[in-house]
Formats: sequence, C-alpha cells, structure tokens
Amino acid sequence: MKQLLLYCRAGFEKECAAEIQDHSAQYQVFGFCKLTANTGYVVFEAYDETTLARFFRDADFQQFIFIRQWMLLVAPLLELDPKDRITAIVDATLSAELSGLGQIRAEYPDTNDGKTLSTLARKLTVPLRQSLRKAGVLLLKEQQRAAVLHLFLLSGQQAYLGISYPENNSELENGIMRLKFPNEAPSRSTLKLEEALIRFIPKDDWDKRLAPGMLAVDLGACPGGWTYQLVKRSMMVTAIDNGPMAQSLMDTGQVKHFMVDGFKYEPFKKNVYWLVCDMIEQPQRVAERIADWIINGWCQETIFNLKLPMKRRYETVKEVLEQFENKLLKAGIRYELQVKHLYHDREEVTVHLRNLVLR
Ligand code: SAM
Repeated sequence: MKQLLLYCRAGFEKECAAEIQDHSAQYQVFGFCKLTANTGYVVFEAYDETTLARFFRDADFQQFIFIRQWMLLVAPLLELDPKDRITAIVDATLSAELSGLGQIRAEYPDTNDGKTLSTLARKLTVPLRQSLRKAGVLLLKEQQRAAVLHLFLLSGQQAYLGISYPENNSELENGIMRLKFPNEAPSRSTLKLEEALIRFIPKDDWDKRLAPGMLAVDLGACPGGWTYQLVKRSMMVTAIDNGPMAQSLMDTGQVKHFMVDGFKYEPFKKNVYWLVCDMIEQPQRVAERIADWIINGWCQETIFNLKLPMKRRYETVKEVLEQFENKLLKAGIRYELQVKHLYHDREEVTVHLRNLVLR
C-alpha cells in the first residue's frame, strides 16, 4: 500500500495536508492528498511504495505540528458487515501478511459523528484482540515496543486499517491528550498550558525545570488559567494584563499583577525561569517579543501561543518560526524548539523553547 492516514483537529485538514506534502517532498516522496473539510483526517497517496515506507520509518513524527497521528495503511478501505466485523478485519491483516504486532487501537475521527463511534470502538477491541492473537497477527502479550495496529472507524460499516511504529508515532489513543478540567482554575485555557507542560517537558525533568519557588512571568494572564498551572506548582508568578485576575489566585500570595502592556514589560532582574504568553496578537509580533526575552536572557524557558488567521495557517506558522529562529541564531542562541497544535488549542499552535545556554 502506498497511503498514509493522518489524524488532525477537524477544520485543519488543509494544514495537515500542506504539512505532509512539505515533509514528504524533503524525502523525495511525491503524491497527493485526499481530504474532505471537517472530517478530522487526511489520506496521503504517494506514487511510490518503497520511498513512502522509508519516509514513514525515517521522518521524525515529533516534527509535525498539525498531524496528531499517522499510520501506513495496509489495506484498502474496509467494508464491514455489522453482523461480523471481526472476520473482515482479521482477513485484511492476514492478506497484508502482518505478524508480531504489539497492540491494537480502535480509533475514530475527532468530530461529533466520530465520537458516536467510541462505544463501538471499545466493544470491538477485546474480541478483535483475541482473534488477532489467535491468527498470529498480534503477539500473545501486549508489547509496547512492537508495531501498533490501528483500526480507524469511519462508521459502523467502514474503517481504515494501518500500522505505526511506537518509536515514531503518538502514544496517545486517537493522538489526543485527555485532561480533566480542574474546577478551581479560572478558565478552560488552563488545559492548554497543562497539556503543553506534559507534552514538552519530560516527567524526569519536572523536579528541575518545573520546580517549586521558580519565578515565572505570564503575559496576557487574565483571568489566570495559565497562572493557575504555575501557582499549582508552587511558583511565584508575575501576571501581566489590563484585565482582572481571579481573586482565588491573588489570595495565594504567589501572584503579583501589573496592568501594563505585555509588549513593553521588562523583568527587574534576570532571575525569571519561565515566560508564558497567551496574548491575542499577531503571531509575528508575539514571536518577536519572545525572541527579545530569550536574547536578553530574561528567561530560560518559554511556552507561548501563536494565534493563527483563518487562511494560510500552515504557511503563517512556517514563516513566523523561520523569522523567529533566524533572529535567535543570529544572536548565537542554542536552543531546543517544539511546536504543536495541541488537542486543547483551537485557532493557534503552542511553541516551547528552551535556551540551552545557561545564564
Ligand atoms: N491565558 C489566559 C488564561 O488562561 O486565563 C487567557 C488569556 S486570553 C486568551 C488573552 C489575554 O491577553 C487577554 O486577557 C488580554 O487582555 C491579554 N492581552 C492582549 N494584548 C495584551 C497586551 N498587549 N498586554 C497585556 N495583555 C494583553
């Protein structure tokens, strides 16, 4: 098979397609995308099977921004008989000569229609796992390091079947990080920063890089969903915004609130570790200001959002990041950069940068 199936947020199919075309071309893999707006997935069909398989193995999945999950299709779209879906799925895996797979994930698009398939996906998983084990397609015990079999349900009667490699995929079901909203948080935005911290900072580093007592600055902080995440980790936060901060946060004694322009605010000392920024502004302007913070050594790590216009979102992100990185490189900064369209993001992407040159 010479097709990849890519998952994304519904409404971002064009960005997902632009991203796969861009990355595959760098590997001399050419093809075209099949997509329908608001379906939450894209099929990329390459002209050549061998080069596609190499690209799928070698291209770094973590580099993708809009693509939440990817799989190499192993069969044409399956037609499933609601009376016996299992047989058709097992037969397809046998025709594709699959064996030694580590686990099965029954998934579905992140759309309202897709969500109605979650019960079916759950119901299918156990019997499917048993049948695939019997057929020798799945290993007898779940194996996290072996390839993953994905069944992507489009409806009760149709599904795609594909594989992904655990060292180069999203380990999350449907490529989605589900988090529980903390009732004490002042806004749902809090989940964006929580997801970003979990995704970008390895758990083993939390003691060092998300440590109690660290100083943080939150630009565009009101009402305080992001500040809440930092306060929860016992940090001291300077919140910058003209709007009001939630009283519950001010009462902790860990927050200082200044009603000043986030583009003009400068820290008094070079002792801030984290800069976070969720200001609704042009992405170019935000990225420039963040670069100033890094170059001036005003913070060591930063997480910020780039709000995206409705059109040319992929191109905008690429252009903004290129200028941002050029500015940092010119200043001799060495850094680690990660960019993702997180599950809790909407018309925006989240950027993480860690300055590797210690102050
Ligand atoms: N992260 C916040 C939370 O979790 O509650 C939500 C932030 S909201 C999306 C954007 C905020 O940016 C608004 O409160 C707005 O007042 C603020 N903002 C926009 N431009 C600003 C500027 N130039 N300086 C300071 N704040 C700004």
